Amino acid sequence: MSEPNDSVLLAGDVPRAVPVSISVQPHLRDVGETKNSLSIAAASMPTAGPLIDRYGRVHEDLRISVTDRCNLRCVYCMSEEGMTFLPRSELLSFDEIVKIARVAHTLGVTAIRLTGGEPLVRKGLASLIAQLSEIGFDDLALTTNGMQLATLAPKLADAGLKRVNVSCDSLKADRFESIRRRGDLATVLGAMDAAEAAGLNPVKVNVVLLRGNNEDEILDFAAFARQTGRVVRFIEFMPLDAQGQWDRTQLVPGHEIFERINEAWPLEAVGDLDGPAPAERFRFVDGHGEIGLISSVTQPFCGTCNRLRLTADGSIRNCLFSDDEYSVRDILRANVGDREIENLLRRAVWAKFPGHAINEPSFLRPARSMSMIGG
Ligand code: SAM
Ligand code: SF4
Repeated sequence: MSEPNDSVLLAGDVPRAVPVSISVQPHLRDVGETKNSLSIAAASMPTAGPLIDRYGRVHEDLRISVTDRCNLRCVYCMSEEGMTFLPRSELLSFDEIVKIARVAHTLGVTAIRLTGGEPLVRKGLASLIAQLSEIGFDDLALTTNGMQLATLAPKLADAGLKRVNVSCDSLKADRFESIRRRGDLATVLGAMDAAEAAGLNPVKVNVVLLRGNNEDEILDFAAFARQTGRVVRFIEFMPLDAQGQWDRTQLVPGHEIFERINEAWPLEAVGDLDGPAPAERFRFVDGHGEIGLISSVTQPFCGTCNRLRLTADGSIRNCLFSDDEYSVRDILRANVGDREIENLLRRAVWAKFPGHAINEPSFLRPARSMSMIGG
């Protein structure tokens, strides 16, 4: 039985499986569905066709974390001091990543997003992008904090990168620095310009709003979207911070953001809201741009989730909030063939739960935080 998250972490404590109590729409695990019962479910797992789970969700989107390291220390993601990172020998090599991506492509994965940690701190990333680009994915994107993007954007675009999401939580320089703890706003705004100049369009801007901190910038960001044509996406703060200090009073719900913006500049829904994209998209009725709401906590989109993650140390994760991991690195380093990699991907997808159960009292926050999984 879990307790509300009122425990205090002391210096040196490692935040593992801290129970949190939050309330959202229920996405329950099947009764009796445990790791042990997965072997029973595996009996009917398809051995051909796309990567499909037991609930009919076809997985076409692979997020690849290339590092757990970062040059920033955002308050909602990392702790300011004392982060420990994977030894380099545990990271997948680019060849290993490409091998997995090739197999995933044969299984119907059409979209790749590189992430981390901060993907641009991994040396030689353009060469990985070039190899992934050759495989022929429909979409090849990157999520970055933007600190090194201005210089790298042309090289990344030449290598075959199609577009970028740049994270930026405040349009006020001092507040930007207090949230991200390192780095500066001017560099990140310059990075957005450079990305556009390099053809990495459309640039999307990821914003995590924190109650009592940057929530007063909702309209500033909406105005920014209207002025620049960049799609500003508001992401709800999730219980994936390294310090384990998340609680739901700190998040600003997507519906509240919608209401505040809609009052100032009326919005209308865009596209197929039943599609797999996590962001609910809205355009300004007067035609001046678009915003997105990623309400992972208050309005989970598990029912249409088509995502799969590859961690920097080579584990397949079928959900941000599930601790179940499948080490593809270990089997790769045992020199297995593509068929074994395929089988592992299929098993990982097949084992996916219907939803993250984030609102259940029994929900345990994952042992690994966002930067270790790959956001
Ligand atoms: N370092 C890159 C960046 O910041 O864009 C890529 C990795 S980061 C983990 C990916 C995205 O996750 C960022 O947009 C970041 O704001 C978001 N993020 C990190 N921790 C989060 C949390 N606890 N809740 C919600 N979003 C989070
Ligand atoms: Fe680094 Fe991105 Fe996490 Fe911020 S959100 S600490 S930039 S990995």
